[in-house]
Amino acid sequence: MAKDFNISDWARLEMLSLSPYTSARDTFTATEGEWTFLDANENPNASGVNRYPDPNQSKLKKRIAALRACDENQLLIGNGSDEILDLIFRAFCTPYKDEIIIMPPTYGMYKVLANINSVALVEVPLDKDFHLQTDKILASVTPNTKALMFCSPNNPSGNAFKKEAIQQLLDNFNGLVVIDEAYIDFCDFSSWSATLRTYPNLIVTQTLSKAFGMAGLRLGIAIASPEIISLLKRIKPPYNINTLSQEKAMQTLSDTAAVKSQIEESKSERNRLKKALASLSWVEKIYPSDANFLLVRVDDASKRYAELLAKNMVTRDRSSQENCKNCIRISIGTPKENNQFITACKSL
Ligand SMILES: *Cc1c(COP(=O)(O)O)cnc(C)c1O
Repeated sequence: MAKDFNISDWARLEMLSLSPYTSARDTFTATEGEWTFLDANENPNASGVNRYPDPNQSKLKKRIAALRACDENQLLIGNGSDEILDLIFRAFCTPYKDEIIIMPPTYGMYKVLANINSVALVEVPLDKDFHLQTDKILASVTPNTKALMFCSPNNPSGNAFKKEAIQQLLDNFNGLVVIDEAYIDFCDFSSWSATLRTYPNLIVTQTLSKAFGMAGLRLGIAIASPEIISLLKRIKPPYNINTLSQEKAMQTLSDTAAVKSQIEESKSERNRLKKALASLSWVEKIYPSDANFLLVRVDDASKRYAELLAKNMVTRDRSSQENCKNCIRISIGTPKENNQFITACKSL
């Protein structure tokens, strides 16, 4: 049975009653045919980008909806998932009053966005194996808790959280559960978006920045109920996705075979890198990964980081994160890059 979720109990009243900016391209959308556009004060000389972009990203949305098996009205496209997360804060969290719960070590943007939006942050750390402490999370909920926000697979640890744990949170928390699935394509679990009918309080965010290889375009997506999507759409900047990004994404997504084989390669390279690292004396632990990176605990992270840097290898020292002392995060490169990395590691 579907959970009860009434958006007006959770969204900020001023956002629900906001009348959004209507752009020229909102009031008239051309389909087929020849039109003369004298409505938006653009330069009329064609250059490929002289017109404002489609504020609804209709073509791209249709393509992504097919790819992610959801309806177009369940989909929002953002200027990176960072913009989408920011919209969620602005739509649902009243500054100086509401709070959200995050589970460190986690993606750094949640804290930054909470701070920017003056929303209090409650931190319930993952356990030492980087799994959710569901009872502690639920015990930390207060009347001002608007959202639980986490990524699965998790950054920086790499693991996906257990299905039962996420389900327990969805079943027992009535506010928003935001699951950031930036790395979903590298893992063997399917997206939580398949459970949206049961959990209307769920927002799944994904991105074209990782598996799809378009980090430079800045394209993130939210999959949620049509009610939540329509609220987020009302507050988004009208032209948040530029024309070139929409066109390039359409082009890349017209044939996903290349992306699929890159994902497979990344997964097999992940295993290869894991084996190579396991044989090194200074590597103490390699955490299980469902993503395109490995978190590795070494004897001395700042030393190994510097040594690798001296060999032109850039990794990320995550030592400052909760439970990540002496941990380095390593993204999976191309087979050639990984060979170079393994050679560099062996020479330390
Ligand atoms: C990389 C990453 C993102 C990506 O954000 P974009 O703004 O879409 O590039 C989101 N969440 C997590 C956990 C990430 O690691």
